[in-house]
Amino acid sequence: GGESGEGESYRVGIDTTYPPFEFEDAGEYTGIDIDLINAIAENQGFEIDFNPMDFGGIIPALQADQLDVAIAGMSITDERKEIVDFSDPYFDAGLSLVVAEDNSDITSLDDLEGKTVAVKSGTTGAQFARDNEAEYGYEISQFEDSPSMFQEVSNGNADVLLEDYPVIAYAIAESELALKTVGERLTGDQYGIAVLKGENAELLEKINAGLQELRDSGEYDEILNKYIAE
Ligand code: GLN
Repeated sequence: GGESGEGESYRVGIDTTYPPFEFEDAGEYTGIDIDLINAIAENQGFEIDFNPMDFGGIIPALQADQLDVAIAGMSITDERKEIVDFSDPYFDAGLSLVVAEDNSDITSLDDLEGKTVAVKSGTTGAQFARDNEAEYGYEISQFEDSPSMFQEVSNGNADVLLEDYPVIAYAIAESELALKTVGERLTGDQYGIAVLKGENAELLEKINAGLQELRDSGEYDEILNKYIAE
């Protein structure tokens, strides 16, 4: 893990393609998570070395000491708390069911018997799909990144996908993808910034202090409003 001190540089794991939280624009990392961690680094006086990777690789990379911090639209879960310590929550999310725009037979989990459900490796969506597979009788098809998973449903190779609703809402609004969300939100959760459990108390304290400072100054709201319509 990182040592303490002014100007320390931390290796920050980010999901490669997860707008509006993290994505590349004209060769620069941008998005809510990127702006938040940059602002935290600035107010807490540390440097960042971004390490983009597939989401499924991020927790293993923390465990292997290849990363100090992860900010990746990562939901706070009890299972992950066995391995990482999370910052205070910074965003409310949760899973939606997503189908092709012209699909009218799937409106809930009850319609998934014999269907193919696309998920992304290592995510809460993948976990939800596994937990409910026996009850609803669908097949799971796994992808390494969100755009590939979206494509699979949009081109008809899979019937449905599971994704965090702020992410799929942004993708539908900002792209040509012919997808729509259906039914109630399936889960509610919150995003947190992660560090390897038990090894980074000081860094986590800085992150929480930085986050609080952004909330107090109004910069947190400014960052969110920049990417998400009010
Ligand atoms: N919030 C979901 C999770 O934590 C998905 C994160 C992601 O795909 N970057 O598993």
